[in-house]
Amino acid sequence: MGNLHGGSFQAIQEYFQQKECRFCSNSFKPDGIQLLREEPGVLVVRVTCSTCGHPLGVAIVGTTPKAQVKPAQNHPRDWTKRDKDRLVGLPPITYDDVLNAHQFFKSLDTDWHKHLPKVGKAS
Ligand SMILES: [Zn+2]
Repeated sequence: MGNLHGGSFQAIQEYFQQKECRFCSNSFKPDGIQLLREEPGVLVVRVTCSTCGHPLGVAIVGTTPKAQVKPAQNHPRDWTKRDKDRLVGLPPITYDDVLNAHQFFKSLDTDWHKHLPKVGKAS
């Protein structure tokens, strides 16, 4: 189990090492890629350029290639309501979508999750 996620995180690191920072044109380095959360089927990573320090953003990467993940039902039990508000409703993404997700997150400020549609019961 741990190997699965570890391998996925390594793959994410390798993926970003092939990408260039848009600010300094250097490749991202493994030490700039931080694993924020590790959940079944989902890794949340923050990518920062370790050369110039510019943050690229946060990516939620689905690690379950075949299974259809239904976020509203599959969220981990230890997620707080705030986590759910932030993460549920975002479709799982694949590696190919990671850069798009970065663009998405980067274009929003720290209150970005407030702009997402509410899920579940309105409180
Ligand atoms: Zn840079």
